[in-house]
Amino acid sequence: MSKRDYYEVLGLAKNASESEIKKAYRKLALQYHPDKNPGDKASEEKFKEAAEAYEVLSNTEKRQRYDQYGHAGLGGGGFSGGGMSMDDIFSQFGDIFGGAFGGNFGGSFGGNRGGARSARGTNLRVKMKLTLEEIAEGVKKKIKVNKLVNAEGVTYKNCTTCNGSGRVTRVAQTFLGAMQTQSTCNSCQGAGKTIDKKPTDADNHGLKRQEDIVELEIPAGVEDGMQLSVTGKGNAGPFNGIPGDLIVQIEEIPHNQFRREGDNLHHEVFISIIDAILGETIEVPTINGRAKIKIDPGTQSGKMLRLKGKGIPSIQSYGTGDLFIHINVWTPKKISKEEKELLEKLKNSESFIPNPDGNEKGFFQRVKDMFQ
Ligand SMILES: [Zn+2]
Repeated sequence: MSKRDYYEVLGLAKNASESEIKKAYRKLALQYHPDKNPGDKASEEKFKEAAEAYEVLSNTEKRQRYDQYGHAGLGGGGFSGGGMSMDDIFSQFGDIFGGAFGGNFGGSFGGNRGGARSARGTNLRVKMKLTLEEIAEGVKKKIKVNKLVNAEGVTYKNCTTCNGSGRVTRVAQTFLGAMQTQSTCNSCQGAGKTIDKKPTDADNHGLKRQEDIVELEIPAGVEDGMQLSVTGKGNAGPFNGIPGDLIVQIEEIPHNQFRREGDNLHHEVFISIIDAILGETIEVPTINGRAKIKIDPGTQSGKMLRLKGKGIPSIQSYGTGDLFIHINVWTPKKISKEEKELLEKLKNSESFIPNPDGNEKGFFQRVKDMFQ
């Protein structure tokens, strides 16, 4: 049996727009929906034919292939053979009819689709303060959380409202006539069971609050505001359901020696005017120890030195950032009479008069360089 042209199936011209395709399919799907035509084989075939046409024409890539090669262009794609299954068709409905109507509309025909599903617990949110040192290394932390857990000694029975299916079926009057729809059972929140017996400390979902210690492994390189999610460590689910997740929000404690910029660190160091003139080797702090740096004779205030790999490891494992040492020349505020006399002698010495050559850069030029 040869297939009908997809545009013909939907009653559209070749240049039909996306919204025209959607609209045409929606109309046919409602017209030939099996719920409206119980036991009618011809309607079911038309329903499937329309779904198949929509599946192809609503997909830019498939539509292009179809326009170019016809049905042959889709060979091997699963459409040239037996067509789509009812499950495929109903899973399409979410897009075309919108959430509220779609799932239930499809589900009502699909019969035993889904069934009762476990209710999910809520996510538990905690904040975690970390020092920059902890962030640089990665750290294991034990935290105390107050969360909902399954109470002991709770017994369950089948939900009488939905007979354990988790869903209730009702007949709704729509513009197309009576339509069977299903929704999640309110009594059991879709779990299909309710509490039979429970201890006094359990709530109506069979849960109780309890302090729990959770051990967390924080990877190196996390940043302030970042959220880590630990699957299944959140609140227990109602009626012995699936637990939620534990969401850990990272707070970075400001460091008194380092300023962080992404994976790089910055440190300000002060050297004496004598060291700046004569040169010296000095020690600077790093995030996990100390490092020696060489100050060249004639170093200007504001010079920046880079210590490669002494920053923070990248969370995406793209290596490690650098540590930038910003040199400040310390100008004494109080000096003795003797010191003053010595300096007065140097005052008019030619080499102490500022005389920047082409290689010396002032503050603005250095900032400009940093951003280039
Ligand atoms: Zn129920």
